[in-house]
Amino acid sequence: MNVAFRPSRGGSAAPKPSKGLLPLIGNTPLVELTKIAAGPCRLFLKLEGGNPGGSIKDRPALAMIEAAEREGKLAPGGTIVEATAGNTGLGLALVAAAKGYKLVLVIPDKMSREKIFHLKAMGADVVLTRSDVGKGHPDYYQDKAAHIAAMIPGAVFINQFGNPANPLAHERGTGPEILEQLDGDVDAVVCGVGSGGTLTGLSRFFAEASPSTEIVLADPVGSILADVVAGKTPGEAGSWLVEGIGEDFVPEIADLSRVGRAYAIDDAEAFAAARALLKAEGALVGSSTGTALAAALKYCREQTAPKRVVVISADSGAKYLSKMFNDFWMADQGFLWKPRRGDLGDLISR
Ligand code: PMP
Repeated sequence: MNVAFRPSRGGSAAPKPSKGLLPLIGNTPLVELTKIAAGPCRLFLKLEGGNPGGSIKDRPALAMIEAAEREGKLAPGGTIVEATAGNTGLGLALVAAAKGYKLVLVIPDKMSREKIFHLKAMGADVVLTRSDVGKGHPDYYQDKAAHIAAMIPGAVFINQFGNPANPLAHERGTGPEILEQLDGDVDAVVCGVGSGGTLTGLSRFFAEASPSTEIVLADPVGSILADVVAGKTPGEAGSWLVEGIGEDFVPEIADLSRVGRAYAIDDAEAFAAARALLKAEGALVGSSTGTALAAALKYCREQTAPKRVVVISADSGAKYLSKMFNDFWMADQGFLWKPRRGDLGDLISR
């Protein structure tokens, strides 16, 4: 042993090397926010951007591939096909690389360039499709993925929207981690729904382990899910710029029955919340975290007693530097005043 070696940080054990990246999925940090005023609540962010593929979707990606292997549907060299907003694709690409599978991903064209470049660089076959069409249209990303899977002999359509291994990954992983990290004392968990895997898995886990924990839905304005929770007949779905959450239908695996409260958050509020969090706490989080944080703050404002509230931060803001963290893009979308030429220095130094 090197005689100069000293354990760091007062002798606390640093994690030993992991054999490849897959064992690093899960066990993400939980951080208490100290600078955001949340009334009587204490706010905790579950930083899922710390997963090796960069998002919460690494967990179900691994679980769904392992389930397909157990069911004998996938063997080395096989092809996986999926419809994704990008993060499931990145998780699948990570697992596919480790296990030797080919990967075809169908992605709506509104998703950030960062995610698409990242997926292509990982060797995935990326098929971009329209973002402005709904279920039943042949260019709708989920229908298109099912069609492509049917055309490739032996290919497995992962179908996160109908795959029970997706919520199970959160029921067995994300939920128990949160409860343990907060010593069994969690009043509410706030998250959005894309496939519904996170919300459904957390609902099932907390129903058993801590039934008093409230499940709070953060939904983009334009999605139908907040209306469904409120028992209203949803109108026609609109469109929104936040990525990864909100739906124009209730996914097959999504169980909304334990959602106590739902908040519809518009893009402006979501982006403002994520940008404020970065300035105040230095936490670089994605747009769906902005939606969840804005919903959590509304929830907290309604509370009279102290509450411990967990906000799921599904991914990092590094994927959105060209969008919600770019003042020019924000201005083009009508969220900020357009910066003038001479403002650039000011923008950079801010
Ligand atoms: N946030 C982001 C950024 C996502 O990519 C996703 C997955 N589409 C979610 C939240 C929602 O996760 P789930 O699929 O578990 O509902």
